[in-house]
Formats: sequence, structure tokens, C-alpha cells
Amino acid sequence: MYTCGPTVYDFAHIGNFRAFLFEDLLKRWLEYRGFKVTHVMNITDVDDKTIRGSQKQQAPLGQYTEYYTTAFFEDVNVLNIEPADHYPRATQHIPEMVSLIKKLIKKGYAYKGEDGSTYYAINKFKNYGKLSRIKIQELKAGARVKVDEYAKEEAQDFALWKAWTPEDGDVFWETELGRGRPGWHIECSAMSMKYLGETFDIHCGGVDNMFPHHENEIAQSEAATGKKFVNYWLHNEHLLVEGRRMAKRLGNFYTLRDLLKKGYDPKAIRYLLLSTQYRQQFNFTFEGLEAAKGAIERLRNLMRRVQDADGESGGEKITQLMDKVQTSFGEAMDDDLNISVALAALFDFVRDVNNLLDAGTVSRGEAKEVCALMLRFDKVLGVVGEVKEEERLPEEAEELVKKREEARKVKDWKTADSIRQRLKAMGITIEDTPQGTRWKIKNP
Ligand code: AMP
Ligand code: ZN
Repeated sequence: MYTCGPTVYDFAHIGNFRAFLFEDLLKRWLEYRGFKVTHVMNITDVDDKTIRGSQKQQAPLGQYTEYYTTAFFEDVNVLNIEPADHYPRATQHIPEMVSLIKKLIKKGYAYKGEDGSTYYAINKFKNYGKLSRIKIQELKAGARVKVDEYAKEEAQDFALWKAWTPEDGDVFWETELGRGRPGWHIECSAMSMKYLGETFDIHCGGVDNMFPHHENEIAQSEAATGKKFVNYWLHNEHLLVEGRRMAKRLGNFYTLRDLLKKGYDPKAIRYLLLSTQYRQQFNFTFEGLEAAKGAIERLRNLMRRVQDADGESGGEKITQLMDKVQTSFGEAMDDDLNISVALAALFDFVRDVNNLLDAGTVSRGEAKEVCALMLRFDKVLGVVGEVKEEERLPEEAEELVKKREEARKVKDWKTADSIRQRLKAMGITIEDTPQGTRWKIKNP
């Protein structure tokens, strides 16, 4: 699996992380189903944007991109994204790119323009446009584009190797193609095929990458090898802000760091960005982030409760609930990662187990099985993590909570209230919800 990685010219924003989290979910789901995944994510550390950015800061390109690359890996770790097996950097794969371009020249798919740059002749590749479904009949023959990003309407011969110009400053390589630097698209063709072979299974990215980036990757790779490049393309839709794509150039973005500074739990951010199916757009809101926080708290709360459960066995009930949730969660995820349906099944399960716990009909052994299943789901979701020891109730308090529940059942509000006060004195607050009693330990 190859996933287009960050362009390290700034901190990644949470729209970018929606892409990386969708890819993380896909990989974790494939692993849940028993596949062995080799995951490659490139680091784009030379392109139009990184060069412009480093010049603005008057820093050498390498130093500038290293700073944002380190920041990216920190963010990946904070968001509990499973690391890829390889993180190739474009600047460390120039020879592979040059050799790929030379192959394209030899086969007649690439030519040198009068500006000294090497271009890909898109009309030579009969399948050009098959991914993004564009038609190239209306194209002006020989029209060329040298920038990395451009619109569908501007589809033209694109630069594989960009001849040095004074604007590039000291960013160039002396190669058989002349002094210059690679285009963005050839980077991903060269790096993906180096680590995964000429044909590989899965390639992902955001929908904005479908054209021109992925279209050009196909053209480059398939023309060079004569083989199918990728078996499955998966593109995530955008994270929006007030109906518009979250993007650097629109200025409507939050970085992960912005949200952490505001005190949000990274697991809640992870949950929010994961919980809409990847091909649906959705709006980022702070209400959404609050709801995400509540959702993972419900999962954690169940984890705490099952760790302490010690009731009667409920017979077949728990096994039936576990079978049901595994089937529905699995079927939903197998259906193009239909995460919202999968999560709905999981929360039904949480509610049902809470009810059994309230009734005292979950034995220690059954609780252990529930715990193991929750951890298996969390290997896919990555939002619960370890439920910390100190987040569990002390035994005495646990007893009180139970007594209070019993009192409430017989509508003995007076006792229930006085127990609430005692718990409060111990720093524990109680909240009664339709899913059962929830508690919180005040931070010391
Ligand atoms: P970049 O660093 O610009 O190359 O982008 C990294 C990844 O983030 C690519 O797969 C983009 O398609 C994706 N991306 C960019 N903006 C958004 C957004 N608002 N929502 C979801 N994915 C995005
Ligand atoms: Zn790419």
C-alpha cells in the first residue's frame, strides 16, 4: 500500500490528517482481517512549495524540510497512527527518478522542451485520463505545464524534470537530464515502485490528488513498465470548514497543534476525523469534537467497568451480544470501511453490556472476554488506549456506586443522594444516563 505523504513545507493541518487517518484505518482493518500490509508513505521534501517556503525563511531546503518532517512524525505519534514500513524522501531518490525518466525518453513518452526541461507527452499514452475521467481530445498539441499543481482544464504535457532557473536558487541536481530538479509526480512513481514493485495493490490519497498527481503517476509508471501500476485506488473526500475544503491557501485550517493547545485530547481528534466514512465530506466543528470526546469516554467507561465486574453469569447473553457486534462491525467495515455503521453497532453493544452490568449479570470471566473484544476493536480504532489504573474506582467507592444503584432501583432517593454526597467528598462525581451510571474522578 502506497499513500501520498505530506509535503513538508509547513505543519500538516487536520484535513491532511483526515487523509492519513483514513489510510491508517484502512491498514488496521486489513490487518484485522489477516492481511499482511507493507505500507510506504513518501515525504515530499522537494517541490514548488518547499522551495518557495525555504526561500521565504531564508533557510537551506534540507534544514527547512527536516524541521517539518520531524514535526510530522511527532503528530503521527500523537494521533496514534501506525508508522509506515518505509518513509522514503524524494531528495534521497533522485537517481531512481532520473532512470525512470530516461526510460520514458527511450520509449518515446518524454521529450526535452526548448526550456531544457523534460516533459511527458500525454497524447502518447492512450489511457491518459482513465482515473480522473478527463478527455484530452480538446488539448492543444504541445502545450506544456511546468508547475506541480494545475486544474483538469489545463491538462497538458507536464514536467518530469525541471531545468534549473534562477528562482530555484541552490536547489538543483546535476544529472544526465541536465541541471535541475524532479517534478512532483515522478517522485511518487519512482518511490512507490522502488519499494513495492512495478505493480502493487493499493494507492491512496485525498481526492485533490486524483488529478493531476495520480493520473500522471499512472501515465509515467505504466508507460515505463508496460504493466498495470495499481490494482486499487482509494481517495478520501475532504474535511471542510463551513462548507469549504480545509486548505492552507484558504487560510481556514487548524493544525493538530492548534487543537492540542486548546486542550483537546488527541484521541478525540482521531475519533472525529475517523468517524465519517472516507468518501463523504464533512464539516469540522468544535461541537463535533466535543461529541467525539463523549463517545470515547463511553468506550473507556465500559472498559473500566468490565475490569471491575464480578457478578453472576448472564448465561448466553454476553456471548450472543459479542457474536452480534463482531458480525455487524465486520460487515460494515468490509463494506468500503463504513465506519459510521460499524460504530453504531459498537455503541449498541456498549449500551447492552452496560445494562447487563447494571443488573449485575456479568461474571468476571465474561467481563474478561468483553474486555478482550473491546481491545480487538480498539486495535482498529485506536481511540481507547490503555485505561489507566487511577481511572478505576477504588473498591470502597465501587461498593458505594453499587449501593446507590440499588437504592435508585427501589426509588430510595434519600439514600441515593446521601451516597452521592459521600462519593463527592471522595472526589468522585456521579452522572445518571440512559446507558447507566457514569462516574468521574476529579483530577487531584
Ligand atoms: P499535501 O501535504 O498537500 O501533499 O497533502 C497530504 C494529503 O492530505 C493528501 O492526500 C491530500 O489529498 C490530503 N488533503 C489535503 N487537504 C485535505 C482536506 N481538507 N481533507 C482531507 N484530505 C486532505
Ligand atoms: Zn504522491
